[in-house]
Formats: sequence, C-alpha cells, structure tokens
Amino acid sequence: MFRNFKVVSRVIFGRGSFNQLDDILRGPRVGNGFMVFVTDDVFRGTDFAARIPLKSKDMLLWINVKEEPSTMYVDELTEKIRSFSDTLPAGIIGIGGGSTMDLAKAVSLMLTNPGSAKDYQGWDLIKNPAVYHAGIPTLAGTGAEVSRTTVLIGPEKKLGINSDHTVFDQVVLDPELTSGAPSDQRFYTGMDCYIHCVESLTGTYLNAFSRSYGEKALDLCKEVFLDPGPESDDKLMMASYFGGMSIAYSQVGVCHAMSYGLSFVLGIHHGIGNCIVFDRLEEFYPEGVREFRQMMEKNNIRLPRNLGAGIREEQLKKMIAVALILEPLWENALGKDWKKKMTEERIKELYLKILEG
Ligand code: NAD
Ligand code: ZN
Repeated sequence: MFRNFKVVSRVIFGRGSFNQLDDILRGPRVGNGFMVFVTDDVFRGTDFAARIPLKSKDMLLWINVKEEPSTMYVDELTEKIRSFSDTLPAGIIGIGGGSTMDLAKAVSLMLTNPGSAKDYQGWDLIKNPAVYHAGIPTLAGTGAEVSRTTVLIGPEKKLGINSDHTVFDQVVLDPELTSGAPSDQRFYTGMDCYIHCVESLTGTYLNAFSRSYGEKALDLCKEVFLDPGPESDDKLMMASYFGGMSIAYSQVGVCHAMSYGLSFVLGIHHGIGNCIVFDRLEEFYPEGVREFRQMMEKNNIRLPRNLGAGIREEQLKKMIAVALILEPLWENALGKDWKKKMTEERIKELYLKILEG
C-alpha cells in the first residue's frame, strides 16, 4: 500500500510575508469567530509582538517552551481556551519554534477531540478534524511546519500525535522572523534538519519522492553552515520545509529514536539532543557524521559531554524502552530484521558511549 498523505494546504514564503497575516486570516475568521495566537513568550514585549494582527475578541496565549511540550501542558492550554469562550475559536495560530508550533497543532486537535492529549499519542488515533490551525516558524529546522505530527512528552513516553488532522492548514514562512535566534540554538535546530535528511537518505524506506526533497535540503544545510551568505536564513527555512517533506514519505532513524529516549529521561531538548547522539553514530552514518563535525567546527559549537555522570540503571532502562517504541524508525534505519541487529544490550552500549562521550 502506498501512503496517501496530507500536505499543508497553503504556504506563503518571503521576507516580510508575516505582514500579510491579517489578510490571510480574514477568510478563516468566518462571522465573528476569534483567533488564538499561541505565541512563544520569548517575544513578549518585543516590536515583533506588536505586529501580531490581534482583534479585540482574540486571545493572545503566551507560552513557555523551557521544557519540551508535554501532554499535560496541552491539556492545560486547551482548558484555558475553553474557559475563555463558550464557542470554539475560528483558529489557532502558532508562532515560534518547533515546540510552539507543536503546541498549537495539539491544542487545535484537542479542542475537538475528547479526553487528554496523552490518549492520542500514536498513529491515527484522532477521530475529529481539528479547528483551523496555522504555523509560523521563528526558528528553522524541525520541519514541524509541514509534518503530520506534534511531538509530546506524555506520562509514559515521548511520542507524537500522528494524524492527517495534525497538518497545518496554512504556514507563513518569513525568514526575517528567525534573525534574532541565538546562534547555538539556530545551529542545533538547523542540524535537526540536516539529520532528518541523512536519516531519510540512508534509510530503507527511501524512494524518489523522499530523495528529491532530502538531497536538496541537505545541500541547503551545507551551504548555510559551511558557506554562509546573505540568503542563509531563507535557505534554512526552505531546507526545513524540504527536510520535513522528505521524512513525510520515508522516516527518520537511529539518531532520532535514541534522542527521544535521552530527551524523555534527561529533559534534553530535541535539537541539541540529536547533535549529542549523532556525533557518536559514525558506525551508522559515517559520511553524515564527518560533515556534521565540519559544520560544528566552522560554527564554533562545543557539545556538552559527560551527561551520564550519576545516571541510574532504571533511567537507562527507561531510555532504552522509549527508544524501542519507535519501531518504524529502527526499521527504516536497519531493515525489516532490525530486531536481530538492535537488541536492548546493543542500545545500552550505544547509550553508554553517548553519555560518557
Ligand atoms: P524550540 O521551539 O524548542 O525553541 C528553542 C528556543 O529558542 C526556545 O528558548 C525559544 O523560546 C527560542 N526561540 C525560538 N524562536 C526564537 C527567535 N526567533 N529568537 C529568539 N529565540 C527564539 O526549538 P526547535 O528546535 O524549533 O523545536 C524543538 C521542538 O520541536 C521539540 O519539542 C521537538 O520535539 C519538536 N519537533 C517537532 C517535529 C514535528 O514534526 N512536529 C519535528 C522535529 C522536532
Ligand atoms: Zn527531528
């Protein structure tokens, strides 16, 4: 069976395209519906915040992404919106990095589906369509703007709500919005895209669709981080989008599976967690790791090491369990008989190498 996957319905790209947001939302506002702007609180009080096209009935919901998005936080935000008005909002607009966009996606789903976000972590468990939702990245690399998932930390696991209903109705790709990001964060999030491409391009799920997007995105990442120029922010934004399209029809691999475990147990964020893991995976991705190190060098990045000091056996066990839930990732990386190649013992060895690094 071929997958018939859903893509974002509308995309606007260009420096300054954020200024068209008011126009873009005119249609979705239907009648006197209100919008909820789910916005990263890093922008609170900035000139950029003043540019958000708020109407008097709208809700501006500042959110904090110090910790990665959790199912609990999604439930809390959904409740806040429900108590703001008796009616459903006309739309949810996520403005921020991958964490904020994921929260916006999740909230838009939970407003129309009963229960807690944790009930929907998995594949195609969502029953009802979400309310209209738009994503506006202020960091580039995760591909959250195009993906059919919202990655959440639940009580038991870190796993996305994967569903066609998760996909944004609209994205606004304005490279100007990423200009204020700290350089190390920009690198880590950019490397998320680079690693998406390496894992997609070396995986067993690869096909011409994924390869076409993945190769272009990989080249763009290399240009941005090895030979930067005035268009770097534009290129990185398109790399993120193309990287997301590449994995949409293939999958990520060993690095992502292991980085999820690291993040669940130690709270290490996705971008930096991927970098910490990838740097120790030359056995799986020799060419990718070599280039990654060149990019680190060129961008003066020093990764934190010795994360394993004081790690307990049960924490290690949980990491392994969280990584092993991600079966499609392992299958993509290692083939159908991956269980023979990647035993618990083998993952443990890899984790120890990463943690002691
Ligand atoms: P992020 O959204 O977690 O933000 C990282 C930091 O950068 C935060 O402190 C944030 O406030 C700050 N920031 C964001 N934009 C800024 C700007 N323009 N100027 C200054 N500071 C800014 O980072 P991320 O790497 O974009 O997202 C990581 C998250 O994305 C993880 O939770 C991960 O699980 C998720 N993710 C989702 C998908 C998906 O397909 N849904 C794919 C990959 C990763
Ligand atoms: Zn990723």
